[in-house]
Amino acid sequence: MALYLMKEILADAQKRGYGVGYYNGVNLEMIRAYIRAAEDCNSPIIIGIAEGLMKYADFDWIVPLYVDAAQRAKVPVAVHLDHTYRFEVLMRALRSGFGSVMYDGSSLSYEENVKNSAEIAKIAHPMGVSLECELGKVGGFYNEEGIRGKNISTDPALAADFIEKTGADFLAVSIGNTHGVYTDPPAIDLPLLGEIRLNVKIPLVLHGGSGLSDDDFRNCIRGGIVKVNIYTDVITAAINKVRAENSRFNYTDLNMQAEQAMYEETVKKIRIFGSGNKA
Ligand SMILES: [Zn+2]
Repeated sequence: MALYLMKEILADAQKRGYGVGYYNGVNLEMIRAYIRAAEDCNSPIIIGIAEGLMKYADFDWIVPLYVDAAQRAKVPVAVHLDHTYRFEVLMRALRSGFGSVMYDGSSLSYEENVKNSAEIAKIAHPMGVSLECELGKVGGFYNEEGIRGKNISTDPALAADFIEKTGADFLAVSIGNTHGVYTDPPAIDLPLLGEIRLNVKIPLVLHGGSGLSDDDFRNCIRGGIVKVNIYTDVITAAINKVRAENSRFNYTDLNMQAEQAMYEETVKKIRIFGSGNKA
């Protein structure tokens, strides 16, 4: 099956009311785990990398791997660039083969976020690349001083204005979701999601999916979320497996064990999101 665009995959998810997982990967085992899981579940899938993960894998070698794997897959696979902050990284990404990119201006003022997002949309759209932006702030990332970013909820009244002014194609929302490991039990604000949904018709994205309950996922997808970002749950599955098995296997076989654990975690997520048999 050919390489798909995230725009195409999410349009179908929106129309038929299911969610699609987005998974960050930095090596061959992760890519294989995700695509094997999607194929075995007959599910569309979105894979990619983020600016913060480029220390593990640069665009120059990971994007060709992604594109090649997508073209060989039996299900629709889109290649997306997650959280990006720097203009030069985004410009490189536009030439690297991503079908969609995320610009994260959520740490800036509303006006600056609008200005930068609109500028990037103006460059990306003519190149056939669609744009995900974030309004409000999904916390959880640690800065250089080791301080954890706090959540700022998405303002539903501003959301429509933001989409109109920027031309963004997908919107990442902050509704109680947090990146990484939840330090307090997650409390997803479904009424807020409902208000955002009323004001915004483009596909909505839930970051910080790892750690949410199956019911949280189902409620969010019912409430209008179509893309769910997952990373921590997958790498936690891998590391747990490696810790449990490290005395029994050599390095290469240990990689295969980690891949199997990530595959199983991805299958679990696909079943919860409802994208199985939607390919
Ligand atoms: Zn995120």
